[in-house]
Amino acid sequence: MKIIFIGKNYAEHNREMHSEAEKQPVFFLKADSCLHKGHNPFFIPDFSDEVHYEVEIVLRIGKLGRSIQGKFAPRYYDAISVGIDFTARDLQHECKIKGLPWEISKSFDQSAWVGKWIDPAQLKTHENLNFWLKKNDKTVQSGYTHDMIFSPDNIIAFVSQFMTLKTGDLIFTGTPQGVGPVNTNDFITAGIGNETLLHCEIK
Ligand code: MG
Repeated sequence: MKIIFIGKNYAEHNREMHSEAEKQPVFFLKADSCLHKGHNPFFIPDFSDEVHYEVEIVLRIGKLGRSIQGKFAPRYYDAISVGIDFTARDLQHECKIKGLPWEISKSFDQSAWVGKWIDPAQLKTHENLNFWLKKNDKTVQSGYTHDMIFSPDNIIAFVSQFMTLKTGDLIFTGTPQGVGPVNTNDFITAGIGNETLLHCEIK
C-alpha cells in the first residue's frame, strides 16, 4: 500500500511557504509504516525541533487503475476524509536547501493520520467542501476544496500515468494555508463541515 501526497496545491499555502506555483501536480510518497493506527497519541520525534501539522482532504482508492482519465476518476475512490501530513519542517528546510530527497522530514513513523472515512456520495464531493484543523480548540487551518489548484480528478489522472493505483492506496491532496508547529500536550481535531473526523493528542 502506498500513500501519495500532493504538494503546492493551494495558492495561499504556496505564498506562506514562499514557493512558486507549478504547472502540473507535485507528488511524493510516504511509506505504509507512516500510517497512524489505533488510539496512541502523536509522539513528537526527537530528531526534529519543529514538527508542523498540515490538514488535507484524503481519498482512498477503491479499485486498481492505471492511466485513468479525469472524467472517470470519481469511480476510483470509495472513501474520503481529512488527514494530517505531519512534517519535520526543520529537516525539510535543510533538504530543500541541499536539493536532497526529503523523506527524513516526511516519511517518518506515525506521520500520516487519517480521520473517520465518509462515503463520497454522502458528501457530494462536487460541492465546495470546507475542511479545517483546530489546535487546542482554535481554528488554525480552514480550506475549501474549490481552492485546490489541481482537483482530485486531475490528481488521479496525473499520478496514475506514472504509477498504478491499487485498492487501499491513499492520496493526501495538499494543505491550505495556516500550517504551524505542534507542541507537547496540544490537542488537535480536524473535520469536514460540521463533522469532526479526527482527534490527535500530541505528546
Ligand atoms: Mg502536505
